[in-house]
This record gives sequence, C-alpha cells and structure tokens, in this order.
Amino acid sequence: MYYNLIMKKRIVIALGGNALGNSLSEQMAAAQITARAIVDLAEAGHEIAVVHGNGPQVGMIETAFETAARADNRFTSLPMSVCVALSQGYIGYDLQNTIRMELDKRKMKKDVAAIITQVEVDPGDSAFLNPTKPIGSFLTAEDAEHLKKAGIPVMEDAGRGWRQVVPSPKPVNIIEAQTIKTILATGNIPIAAGGGGIPVVMLEGQYRGVSAVIDKDFSAAKLADLISADILLILTAVEKAAVNFGKPDQKWLDTITTAEAEKYIAENQFAEGSMLPKIEASINFLRSMPGKNRTAIITLLSKARDGIEGKTGTRIIL
Ligand code: ADP
Ligand code: MG
Repeated sequence: MYYNLIMKKRIVIALGGNALGNSLSEQMAAAQITARAIVDLAEAGHEIAVVHGNGPQVGMIETAFETAARADNRFTSLPMSVCVALSQGYIGYDLQNTIRMELDKRKMKKDVAAIITQVEVDPGDSAFLNPTKPIGSFLTAEDAEHLKKAGIPVMEDAGRGWRQVVPSPKPVNIIEAQTIKTILATGNIPIAAGGGGIPVVMLEGQYRGVSAVIDKDFSAAKLADLISADILLILTAVEKAAVNFGKPDQKWLDTITTAEAEKYIAENQFAEGSMLPKIEASINFLRSMPGKNRTAIITLLSKARDGIEGKTGTRIIL
C-alpha cells in the first residue's frame, strides 16, 4: 500500500477557468499559484501533462479582432480555429514561464513547453447541426439579425442578449499526441490541447480548421487515453462533485464507479456545460482501456496533491 502511494504515475491535469483568472493581470497572478500545484506533483515523482481551458481568453481575442475588423477594413475577424491557436500561445507562454520559474526555484532539472495542438473532430458529428456554445461579445438584436442572414448561428444567451454560437463536437484524435508523449517520457512537462485544442477536420487528405470549440475536459480525457495516463486529474472550482448540488440535502461524492456516475447523470445531478462534461470525460477515459488501472479525480487546484494521495476529491473508477 505504502509502495503504491509513492509509485510514479502518469497524470493529465485539466485546469479549469479559476486556474488562469479572467483578465491579463489576473492570469499572471493565478498562473504562479497554478505552477506551484503542478510542480508539487512533478516533485513527488509523477509525469505531468497539462491541459487548460481558454474561455475568457478566446473571448477576448475573438472580440478584439471582431472590433478591429468593424473599425478598419485592413483587419478581418478571425476564424475560431485561429482564435484558439492564439489563446494556446498566450496561455502557454504564461504557464511555461511560471512553471519554469517554479522548477528553477526548486532546482529541478526539467523542461516545460507548450505545444500548439490540433484536435480532430468528425465532420459528421451531430454537434455541427446544433451549435450550442456561446462565444464572443453580446450582440444587439440588429447585429444578431445581420449574422443570422449571413448564415452565422446566433442564440439568445440566458436572457442577457444575443451571442454567436458555435458547435462543440467531441474530439476523435489528437494530431500531436506522439510528440506530447515523447516530451513526457523524457521527464519533461508538456502543456497541450489548450482550450480543448484547435478543432480540425480531415478533408481531401488535409487537416482544416473548423469553426467550433471542443470542451477541454473531453480533450484532456482523449489525451490521457492516447498517452496511456494512469490518472485524469480535473482541477476546478469545487473540492468534489456532489449530488443534489446546492440543495439542503447536498451530498459530496468520494469514490464512485462509472455505473454509479451514469445513474447520477440520468438523474440530472450534474449541470450541463460545467460538471457534466467532467463526469462524462472521466467515464470516457476509464472505459477507453478497461484492462488498465485508471482513475479520474475531480478536485480543487489547491488540493491537487491531496487528491492524488487519496485524501480528498471525487474519485471515479471503472
Ligand atoms: P471549469 O472552468 O473548471 O471547467 P466549470 O464552471 O465549467 O469549471 O465547472 C465547475 C462548476 O460546476 C463548479 O464550480 C460548480 O458550480 C458546478 N457544478 C454543477 N453541478 C455540480 C455538481 N453536481 N457537483 C459539483 N459542482 C457542480
Ligand atoms: Mg468548464
């Protein structure tokens, strides 16, 4: 048992929005705290690959180019795939620097590098027929009408106004997975599939970017499968997943099986777009290679190490 606790694990960490903050200055501060949590796990002997979200950042990039394009015809608005690529560069830059500083501080000889990552989706994915993911700034009813006429889907977002929506297809493959695995296997830390990865489809023998956003929890699970990770560690804003969340009879979940998780999903215990993708991604990871002893853990960034040591978090097992 003791031996098992100190055994080296291959871990894919999925960082939630709170690991990076909502603005440029928040991100610089948050990334330092995040780097400490990541390096703690590396120092404990584990192999770590980092996946991160990009909601506020990709929104900022999209809006900036959209605004520039409206003001000056020398600029054009950017396709979503390019916006995701830019967000991977910007966030990767901050994370690789804060992680490197933390490694240096602890005299640990490791490299860390962000990989611009493309994630293949199926052009036949039903998500393309039903765009649901709001992106960019709020629009006036008039602007929304213009976009609609141009064939760009828009939706009323929870009574707050109109927004452009894009499909959120499931990842089927990660183009740079072998490179990411090589970096890990040589004892270094890759940052990959940021923002769920740049969505691409294979068309006439070539990968092409598509206007979509892939959920980062699903991409982290796919990466964890492809690089044969032992643990998918989802770090978010709650210490555990719960049933009856936010109600008087709320109950935090410690260890659950995939079958129990499915039962709770059927009871609508996990909110769509927040906890549900984490639970579904965990199930995908655990079931993709049933013979392997895999675990998915959902907990707070500040509890990452306790989560890995089995002291807290929700653990999902096969
Ligand atoms: P991230 O940026 O980490 O992906 P999200 O906001 O998408 O974070 O998802 C985490 C949030 O899910 C929690 O902060 C919590 O408010 C919400 N949530 C919804 N349902 C549940 C549940 N059943 N148990 C715990 N948290 C839940
Ligand atoms: Mg989320």
